[in-house]
Amino acid sequence: MQLVALAEAYVKALAEAGASPLLIPTDLNEDNLAALFSRLDGIVFTGGGDIHPAYYHTAEHPKVDEIDTARDRTEFYLLNKVIAEGKPFLGICRGIQLVNVGLGGTLYSDITDQVPNALRHDWYPDWPRDHLAHSVQVESSSLLGKLLGRVEIHVNSLHHQAIAKLAPGLKPTAYAPDGIIEGVELPDHPFGLAVQWHPEWLTAFAPMRALFKAFVEAAA
Ligand code: MN
Repeated sequence: MQLVALAEAYVKALAEAGASPLLIPTDLNEDNLAALFSRLDGIVFTGGGDIHPAYYHTAEHPKVDEIDTARDRTEFYLLNKVIAEGKPFLGICRGIQLVNVGLGGTLYSDITDQVPNALRHDWYPDWPRDHLAHSVQVESSSLLGKLLGRVEIHVNSLHHQAIAKLAPGLKPTAYAPDGIIEGVELPDHPFGLAVQWHPEWLTAFAPMRALFKAFVEAAA
């Protein structure tokens, strides 16, 4: 039996920030998606399996995992819509990768295989999801820097892929100590922010709650 499911942490983080979150099915046709989209005030692109490497013109890789082509198609459609219509969006983990690929960037298929001397970023499945795995340096002048209110912050890390070539038009806003990009934003968009970590598991920390709060306020 196929399920359409989402970790409850996203729902709780958004509801606590004042949103009325709605889960989007991953395999609707375009007419239904367009009708749904017109009623939404903003979209969170959540974590999940890997984007099909064909979207960034890269060969299959043995460590690419959990591809869901219906979800890919749905999310790229919605990403194009939020950008074209200026609706707020927040990308998380797979979400930052989606934003980068959708705007013409590429990914490392597997950090351990492709980035020499990289830190460990795949702290799963045997670690708590709020495990603070590494720090990130945050650009103080960016929207992310203003919302977090600091230039260095510790984050969880539940990914094995990452941005390789940054998409034209995206501004990098946070880096891990090994140089992996952990934050981007879309300048001149009402609210276009994405992070490689999972703030929904870190809502005990006020700076992480501030990301959801700002997204919800922008969408209101
Ligand atoms: Mn990381």
